[in-house]
Amino acid sequence: GEESVKDVLERKIKEYNLQDNIKIVETGCMGACSLGPIMVIHPEGVYYQKLTPEAAEKIVEEHLLKGRIVEEYLYQGDKGKIVPQPQKEIPFFSRQVKIATRNVGIIDPLNIDEYIARDGYFALHKALKEMKPEEVIQVVKDSGLRGRGGAGFPTGLKWEFARKSPGDEKYMICNADEGDPGAFMDRSILEGDPHTIIEAMTIAGYAIGATKGFVYLRAEYPIAIERLTVALNQAREYGFLGENILGTDFSFDIEIRIGAGAFVCGEETALMHSIEGKRGQPRVKPPFPAQKGLWGKPSNINNVETLACVPPIIYHGANWFRQWGTEKSPGTKVFALAGKVKNTGLVEVPMGITLRELIYEIGGGSPTGKKIKAVQTGGPSGGVIPEEYFDTPVDYESLQKLGAIVGSGGLIVLDEDDCMVDVAKFFLEFTVDESCGKCTPCREGTKKMYEILDKITKGEGTEEDIEILENLGNVIKDSSLCGLGQTAPNPVLSTLRYYKDEYLAHVREKK
Ligand code: SF4
Repeated sequence: GEESVKDVLERKIKEYNLQDNIKIVETGCMGACSLGPIMVIHPEGVYYQKLTPEAAEKIVEEHLLKGRIVEEYLYQGDKGKIVPQPQKEIPFFSRQVKIATRNVGIIDPLNIDEYIARDGYFALHKALKEMKPEEVIQVVKDSGLRGRGGAGFPTGLKWEFARKSPGDEKYMICNADEGDPGAFMDRSILEGDPHTIIEAMTIAGYAIGATKGFVYLRAEYPIAIERLTVALNQAREYGFLGENILGTDFSFDIEIRIGAGAFVCGEETALMHSIEGKRGQPRVKPPFPAQKGLWGKPSNINNVETLACVPPIIYHGANWFRQWGTEKSPGTKVFALAGKVKNTGLVEVPMGITLRELIYEIGGGSPTGKKIKAVQTGGPSGGVIPEEYFDTPVDYESLQKLGAIVGSGGLIVLDEDDCMVDVAKFFLEFTVDESCGKCTPCREGTKKMYEILDKITKGEGTEEDIEILENLGNVIKDSSLCGLGQTAPNPVLSTLRYYKDEYLAHVREKK
């Protein structure tokens, strides 16, 4: 609804001849999906929510013309109150620490000057002018930054492998093929702060010794493609990309490659095949991309959210980043909070926060008052975590111990009305559809698992079917070629681990 609100604002501001005093700045998404469309009026900092064209008209006539607050659209709970720093006063925002999304929802993504005004390209300047590539890698290693795309591999180590790998030509790749249903943090960063990815990739290119970068972006993200294209041109114009960046002898440029939206192309070897113009299918590793990547050359791949943390880490140092998070999982993570929770949207929180804090304090708990039963983390590769484990800190190791994963950060809250067999079936249907078909366990096995689940939900299953489901899931995990197949059974296995009674109820009660 943002565009129609903006149209009305522009029209009314012109009608009342206010255009010399009032500037409309279109930003990226602030993350609070359940409150949108949102508008903040500065300098007062008044925060309006759930806007409609009628609301926009009223706000111009009342607030902008007469200085009167329009209470019915003020953020809930703050009626009549002018809040100087609105985000800190609103529970959804007050617990958040924004590093990867620090500029999203604040700056105009199409204006490079606004990025620079928020310390943009300072880290690139520091890296190129004051640091050797090895020093840049050391800072990233010391920061403890781990891959935010799912696997949690140490980023600095990855960069070191690529740097040490022999070869004159190397590539730096940004994985923007965000495919998990429910996860949209990478899209939000690219749409709201595209320069941070350009800056991070250029720093990474300098660190590993690459002169060429690729952003692999899915075609379903047209706004991200458009804004990144504008940002790339601006960065070239300002001398942050291209030949002899900032007057040094380092040259680097970035190209966008558009993917057709196959989930498997988020797997790094499939992604590289796709960039090469081949069918996007994974291959056996080793060799790893750092040894033999794009066109057989040493390559480094990081996802969008991981890269978005790099400029502030270089600029402020490793210890600055380590002040948040846990010893093994420092920093923050962006989660996409969805399902049976009041405040849905994107939240960036320190690692180590508990699920309970995320779901109840930030998410506001159940919108209906029904009992929250579990949360599904990590999308189709993840698993469910029952309510009794909600005091678990959210970090890579703790969630893995519970049979779930941090993954790309999808969090779907489930309540007492949700059937766990249906939840497992929903995610499995997705992976069956997205399996690339290259290896038998994933291609045939996930299909077979889906057939059994379907039988169970139709009341035609048996207890033996449940046993087969479990065995088959474990075989697929152990024998599939890539991460897609290796994690596809997780939603079934984790619901079987905690909610076997629901499977048994289906087969015993035949419903
Ligand atoms: Fe393709 Fe699935 Fe095998 Fe991966 S595990 S290579 S997606 S068939």
